[in-house]
Amino acid sequence: VSAWLTLRADRLPSRPLDVQILLIDTLRADRLPIYGYGRSTAPNLTSFAKSAVVFDNTWATASWTLPSTASVLTGTYPSVHGVRAKNGDKPSVFTVRQRVETFAEAMHQAGYYNIALIANFWLAGEHGIDRGFDHYQIMGKATAEELNARARELLEKVPADQPVFLYLHYLDVHAPYHGYDVELEPMDPKFTERRLAPYEWGRSKQLIKGFKSDTPPMLSVFIDAYDKAIYGWDRQFGAWVQWLGETGRLDRTAIAVTADHGEEFLDHGRWAHGNSLYQEQLWVPWILRVPGLQPARVETPSSIADIAPTILTLLGEEVPETMLGVAQVRSGMARLAEVDPDRSVFAELNADGGGNWGNSEMQAARRRDTKVVRRNRNYDGYQSFDLAADPNERLDTPASPELVELLDDLAAKYQDIGEGLGRPGNVEMSDDLKERLRSLGYDFE
Ligand SMILES: [Zn+2]
Repeated sequence: VSAWLTLRADRLPSRPLDVQILLIDTLRADRLPIYGYGRSTAPNLTSFAKSAVVFDNTWATASWTLPSTASVLTGTYPSVHGVRAKNGDKPSVFTVRQRVETFAEAMHQAGYYNIALIANFWLAGEHGIDRGFDHYQIMGKATAEELNARARELLEKVPADQPVFLYLHYLDVHAPYHGYDVELEPMDPKFTERRLAPYEWGRSKQLIKGFKSDTPPMLSVFIDAYDKAIYGWDRQFGAWVQWLGETGRLDRTAIAVTADHGEEFLDHGRWAHGNSLYQEQLWVPWILRVPGLQPARVETPSSIADIAPTILTLLGEEVPETMLGVAQVRSGMARLAEVDPDRSVFAELNADGGGNWGNSEMQAARRRDTKVVRRNRNYDGYQSFDLAADPNERLDTPASPELVELLDDLAAKYQDIGEGLGRPGNVEMSDDLKERLRSLGYDFE
């Protein structure tokens, strides 16, 4: 029996796989050709995806960095892990609940050496996301090129028989959109017609440095800059994958490429992210390449909270109880699991954020193509959308009682589980951190 098993293509090799999670901060899924964009913003990722599983409908768990990244690194929803920020007189950060086991801790238990290289100051605080990492390094606003160079340096120091988990958090696609001089295909005319209104320009100028003019530019100028930033990241990604191939690492590494949230370009009258749960802020890529795992597209909704339990299950490790994401593979095998197509995914925004990071408390759930959203500050009500018929969410309709119940049940369930795990810690933000975050466009009262 064992001889037969070892010959099966979907068996994993005996040496544990290395694991990489590459997170591109602020990358909305529909700006990638893989998800239907008409410009070739990411040729290397497109080619990488041909040998990978592409999740077509992955949601972030929130529409801004801190709670969402914490979900990637704990495999659970924000109400459960507890990480969020509070604006006001004394801005502070709530930390990962002590009883929530992080992905890095679980990987450490499994014998991995854990490295995180992060280009985003939000993750510099005392939030507990670093729990379980052997090397956790904030690299300011480092570019993908700088992050990858540092990652190569560190990986080369690890002994060959030591399995490694590497987390890379890229900021290239976040405002102010690092410029890359590249010609992309012409833009869809629906973007080029539109000039920013003065009030929109006033708000966006805080985020997009380097545009000195007081005359509001065309919306296309910003979308161009964003698209070119994706292209610039992708060029470095191509070099990274090539290096993994040349050093023999590609065939022994499971790689997940994803994002913490998207970016809005006035799709619903707003700029940036962290202020709504519309698709442009919530729909993110998830591309999973595992040696031996057959390429596929997965349409059933998934969440970035699924990534950690998926990887632990792939490795045949036990998934901690607090990881409420769904494993997308079978235990110890490079094979997709049968995930219930009626499975729901959940996202939330906490009102404490203030500023760009959420004026209203909101929750959203998706089951198949139906989305339901609840806003319960400034406006109390439920909206629902049919994402198959209306992917841009133009037609909001009142939610049916079944959808209201679905969303309320999920929200209550995660909140109860979270509260049952005890209070998260709370740490005041230092002036230094606030100053650094202002340089990314965040406001503090
Ligand atoms: Zn982010």
